[in-house]
Amino acid sequence: MAGSKVIVLGGGFGGVQAAISARAALDSTHEVTIVDKNRVSRLCGMNPMLIVGERDTDKTGRSLGRLANRGINFVEANIDSIGTSGQKVETSAGTLDYDYLVIALGAAYDWDAVPGASDAYSFYDFDYARHLRRRLSRIKRGKIVLAAAKPPYKCPPAPLETAMIMNWWARRKGIRKDLDISVYIPEPSPLGVAGKQASMRVRNALDQRGIELATSAGVTEVSPNGREASFADGSSTVADVIATVPVHKLPDVVVESGISGGKPWVSVNNTTLETSISNVFAIGDVNVVPSGEFAIPKAGIFASGQGTKVGEVIASRINESHEPEPYDGVGYCYLAYSVGRSATIGGEFLAEGGPATVLSEPTVYGMKSKDRFERDWRSFKI
Ligand SMILES: Cc1cc2nc3c(=O)[nH]c(=O)nc-3n(C[C@H](O)[C@H](O)[C@H](O)COP(=O)(O)OP(=O)(O)OC[C@H]3O[C@@H](n4cnc5c(N)ncnc54)[C@H](O)[C@@H]3O)c2cc1C
Repeated sequence: MAGSKVIVLGGGFGGVQAAISARAALDSTHEVTIVDKNRVSRLCGMNPMLIVGERDTDKTGRSLGRLANRGINFVEANIDSIGTSGQKVETSAGTLDYDYLVIALGAAYDWDAVPGASDAYSFYDFDYARHLRRRLSRIKRGKIVLAAAKPPYKCPPAPLETAMIMNWWARRKGIRKDLDISVYIPEPSPLGVAGKQASMRVRNALDQRGIELATSAGVTEVSPNGREASFADGSSTVADVIATVPVHKLPDVVVESGISGGKPWVSVNNTTLETSISNVFAIGDVNVVPSGEFAIPKAGIFASGQGTKVGEVIASRINESHEPEPYDGVGYCYLAYSVGRSATIGGEFLAEGGPATVLSEPTVYGMKSKDRFERDWRSFKI
């Protein structure tokens, strides 16, 4: 087909890899365009290190404008509506027509779902993380509570990792004995997707570091002064710093497009990541890909893998070549136990017979690999 237009909505993990993979397989008669409201995209995965001063705030981003070097157009604009019947996207920079559409708009945060959460601290958003970093730089004693509200949320190991990094940081500052660190999660056990053994191992790791873990205890409210949190198990606690993981939701523009059919996330064909509408794909945090009794976690590594696959699928349709291999659901996330050691957790989420996942031991090599992941992200390799 001559002169196809591929439009990718969202320039996060998934959108960038979809554009790169499609562009690599298409000749220059076809256009590949990314639309994002932010020219600079941030790596949220750096936030747990950023808040304790172990990452520079000005080194957490990558500019989507640099994709022009690879023949990908970038439009900095808000996406106002997605019209799948007329194959048009309305943006603050005008209307865009498409032949192939990739929806990679991520998960939005519903800060109002937990009363008081918007005025409390968080490490799930760049601006909140910077604010928390300033607060932590002044703290000398007291109690820190990290509290997730309800699943699904991005990178489920992140609250556990953040608590362990805080433990390392407080020890190094010499204030650990004067600081309580607690994690509250809504799930009945941590890392449930990785099985009972992994769950027990991470519980032990927290325990050994004196970090309190409360399960089935999603945060339900934070007091107006940000000093008291209430939880789904009926308990409450007073703390000096309460940092929440906000409730995640589908971006409004995706809900309004009707493509989710009123469901919480967009359903897709597991092998091609195509939605119920032909040549419209949904990848990354915006979709749901069932995996046994769970779903593929909302994590950048999966969004990135799905992006690569969708780019291949689109290119194969345009080039009228063979359909690529089905999406495999393989991916690993990092779980740092300190600033020096990291484990990985992940595996094959679409394996026959259910997800086959493993939690590795935390190692120095694991941390080197995590550092490489960050460098690769900055240079658009993932
Ligand atoms: C604290 C924390 C730690 C994490 N650690 C890891 C980790 O170690 N490993 C890992 O793999 N993942 C990690 N993640 C998860 C990872 O960041 C997300 O899963 C990933 O970013 C999802 O990619 P995506 O492409 O689906 O969406 P996103 O990366 O969120 O990209 C969506 C894009 O869409 C744009 N957008 C949204 N709405 C509009 C609109 N209306 N108009 C224009 N643009 C719009 C946004 O600006 C954004 O750039 C972590 C997340 C957090 C918060």
